[in-house]
Amino acid sequence: VSFGFTDVAREEKAGLVRGVFDRSARRYDLMNDLMSVGVHRVWKDMVITRANPQPGERLIDVAGGTGDLARSFLVKADRAAARRGDPRRAEAIVLDINEQMLRAGVKRGVSDRQSGRIQWVTGNAECLPLPDRSAHCVTISTGIRNVTERLTALREMRRVLKPGGRFLCLEFTRPTSRAWEKIYDAWSFNVIPELGAHIAKDRESYQYLVESIRRFPDQETFAAELREAGFNRVSYTNFSGGIAALHTGWA
Ligand code: SAM
Repeated sequence: VSFGFTDVAREEKAGLVRGVFDRSARRYDLMNDLMSVGVHRVWKDMVITRANPQPGERLIDVAGGTGDLARSFLVKADRAAARRGDPRRAEAIVLDINEQMLRAGVKRGVSDRQSGRIQWVTGNAECLPLPDRSAHCVTISTGIRNVTERLTALREMRRVLKPGGRFLCLEFTRPTSRAWEKIYDAWSFNVIPELGAHIAKDRESYQYLVESIRRFPDQETFAAELREAGFNRVSYTNFSGGIAALHTGWA
């Protein structure tokens, strides 16, 4: 089966993406830990530190899966609130095209403090079912490469941000040194599909994930797309030698 984005129709691709994560949802968190040797947790923590959550703010986490970023956003906003004696509570919307991922997130639960402060919404990043200027912060973590109409999705994420709101996008990108790229290629082309076959019982899905990472534009090209979508002050930071990068911009 070829999952090439160029040879599948738009609807078909959306279906494939949904199917990949449907099949993976239950094993998703475990696979993430194995594939990235736990490093994805450090990256996500860095994303939320940079997001700098404040009391009373609203986050929209697009392609939010099982809700890692949203939980962490609320914890950090609550710490800021406690430090300043500010009673306002932050809230989060986790939006994902795949209901199974959201269900896995709901099942995993939230702390008592966070109860009722996370909304789980099924929807497509290309057409967010959310009002204009409704969030202080929008995040998307390892989700944008799965979106068919990337520019449309970037414009949508800008639309739902309040003026001056911040956008943070974590995505797998290009290693910055040749030596590191070779090691990374060996890991992703050989080890990840094997892990997918044995742990998630689904080699094809994980093969697809590796291929989708290879097709994603390099850091500079993606930064230019953010500017084209209307974000200001766009910049990026490489993580782990460029295996991933955090792109940021302001509405
Ligand atoms: N953000 C989560 C994280 O960092 O753990 C989940 C990342 S997971 C690799 C990618 C997610 O993107 C999946 O949950 C998938 O269902 C979702 N997704 C793919 N295409 C999407 C789209 N067009 N709109 C919304 N979500 C999408």
